[in-house]
Amino acid sequence: MTTLAAFGLEEKGLVEIPGTEYRVRESVLGPLKELSQKAREAGFEIRVESAYRSFERQLSIWNRKATGQLKLLDANGVPFRELPQDEEVLMRAILLWSALPGGSRHHFGTELDVVDGKSVPAGYEVELTEEECDGMFLPFHQWLSKQIESKNSSGFERVFVPGRGKIQPERWHISHRPSARDLEKSFDPQALRKVYEKTDIALKSAILDNFDALMRDYVFPYFEGK
Ligand SMILES: [Zn+2]
Repeated sequence: MTTLAAFGLEEKGLVEIPGTEYRVRESVLGPLKELSQKAREAGFEIRVESAYRSFERQLSIWNRKATGQLKLLDANGVPFRELPQDEEVLMRAILLWSALPGGSRHHFGTELDVVDGKSVPAGYEVELTEEECDGMFLPFHQWLSKQIESKNSSGFERVFVPGRGKIQPERWHISHRPSARDLEKSFDPQALRKVYEKTDIALKSAILDNFDALMRDYVFPYFEGK
């Protein structure tokens, strides 16, 4: 695995999840099928809301959030009325809910955002929020927690959990740990810094000035064994 694959800049080895528009690494497909079967037996239907994401896609999200073209939420999930003026404050605000391009675990192709398709009311558009996890998806998340605790989740685990780094907890985000391991190992922060230097990315100087802290707060705490 190359470090570019860990940044979403190398798409070799990605395969489509049948019946969806999403892609994952090949080694994730079997375990996902297994977990979906277990969910079905428990009365749930795992619906994938997001999987692999390219660097370009994350860059587009980042740049649109930095310029106010996409809604920017505070730690309570309330939209900012005005964008923070200070570049570093703005950068940290984006990072509460969106990853740095190249620093998103969704680049790995081993990560999924999932909900229980059976609990989605007709016409409702899933937003992936805490409220949903405590509401319509609560039984599903309680079931998933039990599966993970009892090591019966086919290698999937939650990674954005309280007390780790500075990313808000995300119950809907699961990682296929055995597959993510290789990507984490190949992740070379200095190579990512070089990518930023060559990329047209919003808040570039704030990112480069705070690079080591960003890795420490938003990337490495979620690696296995950290
Ligand atoms: Zn996610």
